[in-house]
Amino acid sequence: MSFFSKTAEQDKWKEKYLDLLDEQEQSTESCKEKEELLCKIIIRLTIATAGLDPLLDPHLLGIRDQLKNGIDSHALKNELEKFTISVAQIKHTPDQNQSVEIEPLFDFLLRRYTTEKQQSILKLLKKKAETAKFESSNQLFIAILEAIDSDDDASASNIIANYIDIGIVSRQLLLFLESIEIPSIFDQQAQTAKQLLAAPNQTAITFESILDKSFKLLLKIKHHNQSEQQDIDKFLSHITEQLAALDVSVMGASSAAQKSAENRSKLDQSVSEQMEELQLSSTNATKLEPLKGIINSRLASIAKEIEEHSQKEAIQRQKTQQQLDDLVDKIKDMESESCELKSKLKIANTQALRDTLTGLPNRNAYNERLETELARWKRYHIPLSLIVWDIDYFKNINDSYGHKAGDKVLLLIAKQLSDHSRATDFISRFGGEEFTMLLPNTDSQSALVLANQLRQTIEKTGFNASGASVVITISCGITEFILNDTDETAFERADQALYQAKQQGRNRCCVL
Ligand code: GH3
Ligand code: MG
Ligand code: MG
Repeated sequence: MSFFSKTAEQDKWKEKYLDLLDEQEQSTESCKEKEELLCKIIIRLTIATAGLDPLLDPHLLGIRDQLKNGIDSHALKNELEKFTISVAQIKHTPDQNQSVEIEPLFDFLLRRYTTEKQQSILKLLKKKAETAKFESSNQLFIAILEAIDSDDDASASNIIANYIDIGIVSRQLLLFLESIEIPSIFDQQAQTAKQLLAAPNQTAITFESILDKSFKLLLKIKHHNQSEQQDIDKFLSHITEQLAALDVSVMGASSAAQKSAENRSKLDQSVSEQMEELQLSSTNATKLEPLKGIINSRLASIAKEIEEHSQKEAIQRQKTQQQLDDLVDKIKDMESESCELKSKLKIANTQALRDTLTGLPNRNAYNERLETELARWKRYHIPLSLIVWDIDYFKNINDSYGHKAGDKVLLLIAKQLSDHSRATDFISRFGGEEFTMLLPNTDSQSALVLANQLRQTIEKTGFNASGASVVITISCGITEFILNDTDETAFERADQALYQAKQQGRNRCCVL
């Protein structure tokens, strides 16, 4: 092998070595790059997941710190082991998974709400939140709302710290908005706020104004709910007042009776107390020995008198009570008796005014009704007519077919007269085989038309006696009430008209 060829061989190996070295360097570089990238991702992840659970937070912080100073495999392994144990211990309650990153949120709030009052309350809240005294992030938000509501001063600096974790705060606010009951009037605003909070980085609006909008909406909801609650409270207190008033009146009513009894017993008590005192003082008196005896005996007799008096009174009260009870019983008896009497009287009255054979009103009823109709006629000057009916040759019917047949004819005629007259007409059996009709609002000519129709109907109806059909006719006298008429003058005219009808051959109607 020549020197040249040896050198060439060496160069070849050297180049190969250098290539390998380059390759290694590149690979190391790429590993470093990947490592850095992974570190960044892990750091971001630890930031993003901070607040998910208080158990994990210290480990997340530890891992983050570890990674910032480069990877120390041993330390990181330790941290990973602790982290794994903590993950296993997490209790998956929704709120523990969603705790808010206190620092950036309060940083924002303290910059935004700057009055003295707001600041002091917010600082207190922050302390409380840091020592984890809020059971849920919702409670924390409610407390924040209370704090910033104490004075809504918008003159604060609008700077928002760059390191506020927008994602965590907006996610928590979104959860809070979703967990509360939103009155329907705020639906639209709530929808907008939710959209903004869901994607705070994808809008042109700054995160501060998103937060501002959200808090303003929450404040509005809070005020709305408060006023609604006030209405309910008002209503409840009104009801309570009414119930109390009712209670007072009920108590008042029952205590009035109690009071009088109490007063009496108080009087008794005070009298006996006074007496006891007198007895005592007289017993203590040493000098007036004889007087003492007299006073004592008098007092004893007064006591006896009062005792007797109260006994008598009690007996008297009992007696009076008994008398009152008796009186009440008697009144009750009288009431029921009078009711009985009334109904008997009613029956008697009805009977007194009705004809037992035909069931038609009788002469008494006619007289009563005539009085009423006459008064009405005088007052309103509307015509009033009177018809007096009489069965033709009725005696013959009795004589030919017997009294019972005569009764049947009377019944038949009564029915015909009732059935074929108007509801306002008043028909009565005046006596024997005579009937009267009072026709209000009817002049004599109309009465004549009606009477003739009735007469013809009765004539056509006939009567069945022992198999034979017997024609029965009826005649009437008609008159219309005229000025200065009395019941008697009008009846006389009608009776005269009837007489004329009989005279003219019967089965006819005459007007006078
Ligand atoms: P006129 O055509 O002139 O009226 O002749 P009349 O026979 O109908 O007249 P009259 O006054 O002479 O006779 C009436 C009879 O009516 C006398 C009486 O016996 C009879 N009468 C009266 N009331 C009743 C009764 O309730 N039942 C029966 N069956 N007949 C009675
Ligand atoms: Mg007659
Ligand atoms: Mg007759």
